Amino acid sequence: MRVRFWGVRGSIPTPPTSEQIRAKILKAFKNFSSEKDFNLNQVEEYLMHSSVVDTGFIGGNTSCIEVRADDKILIFDMGSGLKRLGNHLLKHEKTKNGLELHIFMSHTHWDHILGLPFFVPAFFPNNKLIFYSVHRNLRDRLETQQDYRFFPVSLDSMSSKKEFVQIAHKQTISIGNVTVSNIPLYHPGGSFGFRVECGGKVFVYATDSEYKDQSREAVTQNSKFFRDADLLVFDAQYTFEESIHKEDWGHSSALIGVDFAMDANVKRLALFHHEPERDDFEIYEILKKSLDYKRINYPESKLEILLATEDLEIEL
Ligand SMILES: [Zn+2]
Ligand SMILES: [Zn+2]
Repeated sequence: MRVRFWGVRGSIPTPPTSEQIRAKILKAFKNFSSEKDFNLNQVEEYLMHSSVVDTGFIGGNTSCIEVRADDKILIFDMGSGLKRLGNHLLKHEKTKNGLELHIFMSHTHWDHILGLPFFVPAFFPNNKLIFYSVHRNLRDRLETQQDYRFFPVSLDSMSSKKEFVQIAHKQTISIGNVTVSNIPLYHPGGSFGFRVECGGKVFVYATDSEYKDQSREAVTQNSKFFRDADLLVFDAQYTFEESIHKEDWGHSSALIGVDFAMDANVKRLALFHHEPERDDFEIYEILKKSLDYKRINYPESKLEILLATEDLEIEL
């Protein structure tokens, strides 16, 4: 199973500002300030081996993840990251017989649907888009987004085949050898997490969720859903302090993710749905705090914690 992040930001697309880019350039120059002369090879070396936090960009597009399993293409949410995924598919996939894309929707807040009108594969009649949603009336919601008052091209004008599959709470569906189950998450209007299993590998996508209910029953239910995941994508929009002050805003913190990952024997935890108000250095601080928290509270743990960044690919 292969997972690729196309959009990792929460709430609203967030391009980098000039000020943020200047801060990174300055940081890079400081790295060389102790050397009298440095050549371009050294600069290239530095760029090759530094993290996206220092010389790239964590990512400004909103939620969209591609999962490849058993030759199937699964997509989780249609945030603005979907646009680049669409361009990538057209460039790299053999599309003679058309693409079959299985699109799972956590919910329909703007940051999870706004990529669809710009998803070029949806304009080709050979392609088939199969939408899966626990929320009712997904088609109606997407049509409304593309009502002429809000967007010039209607959903019906996008000529790919479209199928809408209504899935039930906790129903497990099969696509070839891939199974996908779901869990309700606490979020305004409701959100759903998905657990994908194939060939002994497990991927869990759980975003836009607050873990307010700390009763044993609720914690056990979530832990069971996350159990033994090779990769858990977790809503880490808030710091722990913010998660307490922003009760009922529907998001969580990285530290809660670490506790869940430990409890559920998760192998890798990807911090996701980054807060649009934070720059890359601030988001990196959240990762550092999570690593400290793990070191102090679970010193023996082998859990890997990482930041979900745009274009990051993980083979499970
Ligand atoms: Zn969101
Ligand atoms: Zn939301």
